[in-house]
Amino acid sequence: MNVAVFSARPYDEFSFNEANQSGEHTFTYFEARLSLKTANLCEGYDAVCVFINDDLGAAVLEAIASFGVRFIALRCAGFNQVDLEYTAAHGIKVARVPAYSPYAVAEHAAALILALNRKIYRAYNRVRDDNFMLNGLLGFDLHGQTVGVIGTGKIGECFARIMAGFGCRLLGYDVQENTACKELGMQYVSLEELFSSSKVISLHCPLLPQTHHLINEEAIASFQPGTMLINTSRGGLIDTPAVIQGIKSGQIGYLGIDVYEQEADLFFNDHSDSIIQDDTFQLLQSFPNVVITAHQAFFTREALGNIAKTTLENLDDMAMGRPCKNEVKA
Ligand code: NAD
Repeated sequence: MNVAVFSARPYDEFSFNEANQSGEHTFTYFEARLSLKTANLCEGYDAVCVFINDDLGAAVLEAIASFGVRFIALRCAGFNQVDLEYTAAHGIKVARVPAYSPYAVAEHAAALILALNRKIYRAYNRVRDDNFMLNGLLGFDLHGQTVGVIGTGKIGECFARIMAGFGCRLLGYDVQENTACKELGMQYVSLEELFSSSKVISLHCPLLPQTHHLINEEAIASFQPGTMLINTSRGGLIDTPAVIQGIKSGQIGYLGIDVYEQEADLFFNDHSDSIIQDDTFQLLQSFPNVVITAHQAFFTREALGNIAKTTLENLDDMAMGRPCKNEVKA
């Protein structure tokens, strides 16, 4: 298949070329995001291979379909960026990579917790400045703390395993209980109980209409004062202005995010020479108890290799007209 790869970076090119040793598919790499402005690049391609922040709303889908694109290979797990009603109605097949390394994301969530708790980002700068004072670096033992896990699927389970290793008490909330998590000692509770009983809350559920702004003003009001909130799932799970108010009031004592609702205009690009226009993001960055990473939780060698391998298998299935186990339907 002739595949137009959008939002491509050198590491994508490397991992896809490695996986495509047989040369069965031809990939053309575009650094640009797929949008209405760039849709015309799809002329002559059978498939597009896209990432988290590419636009696959109805208008873009209509445009790329008019150029002959019939297949969409998502090189990510989430598919909230695709208008699946449109693809179903117009016979466009969509496949995703449901799992590539749950460890990568779970380990990154743990890294955010440790960095925030032990203030590694502040300590690093302080020591480089020859300031060896400990004031302001006080942390807490994770051992014995209650950690609430929202979404206990593949990543949530890996995360729960790591936290169990630290000796944390695990609370879980999911629409479907996971036996492996229960075996770790996780207790499934209502969302309300999880909010009010956890010292650390980590989000691992998908972004759906039901989970949009799951962390809002009301939820934050029910937190224990000084709760640590970690989001490595999708930015839309939290209402950012409400979280900012929560940080100001002290309800949220620590915030670690790898995703941000308006990240499409910022992440995966170098803005270091320009003025960021997003005041909410800039305000978030100004707090000493906030650590932001730019959607890098997935970014391990193992994950990139698995993403490329599964995407190629999905393209093979779609090209041959075989059932594709990773097909996404409305
Ligand atoms: P998964 O499908 O294995 O698990 C998701 C869990 O969420 C399931 O157990 C499901 O029952 C649960 N869930 C669904 N609706 C829910 C609701 N309303 N309330 C609570 N729980 C609900 O998915 P996964 O592989 O564990 O991935 C989880 C999320 O992580 C993805 O949806 C994606 O948004 C995010 N992710 C982020 C990165 C990153 O780099 N930051 C990488 C991969 C995935």
